[in-house]
This record gives sequence, C-alpha cells and structure tokens, in this order.
Amino acid sequence: MFLLERLKTYAGTDRTAILYGGEVLSYARLDAWSDAFAAWLLARFGEDRTPILIYGHKELSIPACMFGALKSGRGYVPVDTTFPRERVAQIVEAVRPRVIVDFCGLGLEAPAVLDGMALTEILESGGTADRGTWITPGQTAYILFTSGSTGQPKGVQITAGNIAAFSRGVDSLLRCEGEGGTFLNAISYSFDVSVCALYYALSRGMTLYTVDRAALNDARSLFAALAASGIDIWVSTPSLGELCLQSEQFDRGLLPRVQKFIFCGEVMTSKLGREVRRRFPGARVYNAYGPTETTVLVTAVEATDALCAAGETVPIGYGFGNLTCQIADPETGALLPDGQQGELRILGECVSPGYLGDPERTARSFFERDGVRGYRTGDLCSRENGMIYYYGRLDGQVKLNGFRVELEDVERNLTKVPNIARAAVVPEYRGALVQGLTAYVLLEAPDGLGSLQRAKRIKEALGALVPSYMVPRKIVAVDAFPLNTNGKVDKKALSAGGKP
Ligand code: AMP
Repeated sequence: MFLLERLKTYAGTDRTAILYGGEVLSYARLDAWSDAFAAWLLARFGEDRTPILIYGHKELSIPACMFGALKSGRGYVPVDTTFPRERVAQIVEAVRPRVIVDFCGLGLEAPAVLDGMALTEILESGGTADRGTWITPGQTAYILFTSGSTGQPKGVQITAGNIAAFSRGVDSLLRCEGEGGTFLNAISYSFDVSVCALYYALSRGMTLYTVDRAALNDARSLFAALAASGIDIWVSTPSLGELCLQSEQFDRGLLPRVQKFIFCGEVMTSKLGREVRRRFPGARVYNAYGPTETTVLVTAVEATDALCAAGETVPIGYGFGNLTCQIADPETGALLPDGQQGELRILGECVSPGYLGDPERTARSFFERDGVRGYRTGDLCSRENGMIYYYGRLDGQVKLNGFRVELEDVERNLTKVPNIARAAVVPEYRGALVQGLTAYVLLEAPDGLGSLQRAKRIKEALGALVPSYMVPRKIVAVDAFPLNTNGKVDKKALSAGGKP
C-alpha cells in the first residue's frame, strides 16, 4: 500500500508526522509503532483478519493502531468518543472485533481489550512486520459507521483499492506547494474527511497539526492552537470556517502560510467563500463534495469571486478525472440531460463494496454498470457544462455542523426513551445550512414536568443511545401530530408552529 511504503521512506528522515498539544510523533516512530502493533496482532491472532475497533478521539497512537492493522493485513473501525456506549455496543455486535483499543474504559468485551497503557507497551515492544502481510487492494481497510435510518448505525466498508483511487482523484486539490508542509487535522477519525489527513497528507511527508474537540469548542484555545500551527492546507466543514470567521483574528496574521482552504461535508455558502478570500489574500478556496460511500471526496471547484457572485451557495463542482458522475431520474434510473435535476450517481474505483452485513441496503444504494461500481448518493443535483449544482437530499438525511444525521435514526431512538410514544424530528435551517434539530414528541402519559425539565430528561436519555451531535437542541411535547394528506406526520406544519 502506497501510504505504508511512504511511511517507511519518511521514517528515514527527521520529519514530524503528527503534532498534538505539546506532543510530537515523528515518521520514524509512527512507522516503528505501527510495525510493532502489526507484529503483535499477527503473533496473537494468526490467520484471523477481523478488523480491530478503536474507541478514542485524537490520541497520538491511534494512527499507529490503524496503520499497524493495515500492516497485519486487517482493517480497522475508528469510533469517536461522541458515540455513547450503547451505540458502540451495536457496532461491536456488527463487527465482532477480536481486538478493541479503548482509550476511555467503556468496558466492552472482546478477546483482547487494550487500554492506553497496554497499548503503549505493545507499541514500544520493538516488533517488526514483513511487507508480505500488508493489506491488499481488495481488502477492507476501514469501516466507518454513519447514521442509519433504521435507528442502527450502518458500516461503510472502504478497501485499500478505494483509498488508492481517492488519493489519485484528490491529488491536485490537496497538493501543497513546496516541501513538507502542515495540514490541519481537526476532523474526528471516525469521519471520512479525516482520511485526507491520514492518507493524503501523511503519504506526502506533511505534518498533521491536531486540533481536538475540546479546542474546537473553546474559541480561545482554538485561536491559540491556530496561531501556533503554521498551517499550509486547511480542510474542514464550512461550519468550522464560519465559526472562525466570527472572530476578527481569523486572517493572514493568524495563518501566514495557508495556501488552500478546502471546505467539504455540507453546503458552502458564497458568503463564506468571499469572506475567506478577503481575509486571506492569495489563498485559494475550494468547495469539495463526497459521501463516505465513495471514499471522502469526488467533486470540487475553486470558489472564485466570479463563482461566489453567481449564487447564494457554491456549486459542488466537477467530478474528479478518474470517476464518472451521472444525473439520473431517481425513480427510473434514466440519465437526464444537462440542466435537469435528478439524483447524483458516482461510478468508479472509489465506490465502496457496500455496507457491512447488510446486503439489502447495499443492493438498494449500490449498483454495477459494465463492470464499474456505482453509488446512488440520494443527493438532488443538476449539471451544466460539467459543473454540478447541489439542491438538497431526496431523503431524510441532513448535515448538522458537517455531521451526517438521518432524522429517522433520531426519531427511532427517541421512541426508545421511556414515556415517548412517537417522535418527529425537524431540521432548523438558517439560509442553506441546518443550525439545529427540534424533536416533537408525543408522550404516552402526562409526566407532570415543566418543559425545561422534560427536555433535559429526554436529552439525557437519548444521549445514552446516539452520538451527542444527534441529540436535538429543542424538545417540544405535542398533544397530537398534524398529518398531511398521505396520513404521514406533516413536518412542515410542525416546524411552522402549526398546531394539530
Ligand atoms: P458524509 O458521508 O458524512 O461525508 O456525507 C455525505 C453527504 O454530505 C453528501 O451525500 C451530501 O448530502 C453532503 N455533502 C457533502 N459535501 C457537500 C458539499 N460540498 N455541499 C453540499 N452537500 C455536501
């Protein structure tokens, strides 16, 4: 695998792979640690190739575990600490890992459960692994669990071959001018955008500058971290860009070296593009798009002044050269001419083999055409002269601060909360972006609580079932749901404050 080869090359230099807080991880150490972890996995589990599960956030040793797994011929499942125990238990049930690396002491069960200390002992053991056991293109390299409309997370399997195709497609977008360079590492490892840092930047000898959730949630820490970063390439959600823009400090003085801003994961407004260009003269700003199922990013466009002046949001741009984008009728699958809106489909080597242990859902979302794998994105788009425009979803999926949330996932888990008979979750928009979720709930019996107290209780109970970013900001109890002509809950009437 290209990345593993590159780790060996850079291990012979004095380059830094990852910076986190005051800690420094060199390429030499990252390579040696991942070798040692691979050797341990091979010695302990022989021919078994079940993916390992890693529960943590941005710990420096996580990438060593990931690459150690790859060097031992198996994949990994990164699960961020925003996932509560119940949700992690569902993932463990689906993956059945032999090894769990758990930085938080969740008390999960597997033949081997390693805490931070046990892991350090293995990483420092000096074991080595042979190239002969490295992962091959057809094997699953990682599985990312995203929100699923059934109320259970769904596991997107990505092979080493998918990652290779991603790296080829994304090269000109993420490339940094000059030797080395520093790459922002602010995305949790359980979200696909982190793959830009882990696979693209590290395979080019760049340094990942880590900003963790605690820093992201505290403006002073965030700006102190950014001021010390020397970042050349910025990759984040538009939401993080907008948050940073709220401070006057966010300009060239703060990030004097930055060459490129790549915003991805949710709608990018033209205002964001214009303002970032104004504050960072000379920097290039891009909007990039892609679902986890097609390996991170598949389209991009530079948000030039002209493009930002053309509409309220920036189009998602042009498909990368090594894949095909189609706009198709979502019902019949017939390809549509330029200018007509339809479902965006992606075909190419970047397309995942499908969802773990879920052939039905895989068959619904993926297809094969002339031997090429394709994915139905569920995104409503159109194309004109190669440029793809995004209009929204064809289903109940939303992006909240870049996090993918199936409204049905939240609704189903809400009905597991005691005393909730039914629930409807509605996104609150500000302009083109979702700002938060509101849950409307029908109680089984009066609870005698005030609305604040009730909301607090429900949020706590729901927080034990779904990741924290999926817990609605507002909870409203209703006596009955307004229904539309199909007999379904009329969410428009709910969000308009319509009383049943
Ligand atoms: P994820 O799998 O979490 O990366 O989410 C993929 C979904 O996020 C896509 O199917 C889109 O609905 C949305 N998305 C990603 N990037 C963009 C973008 N640049 N503009 C609009 N929506 C986006």
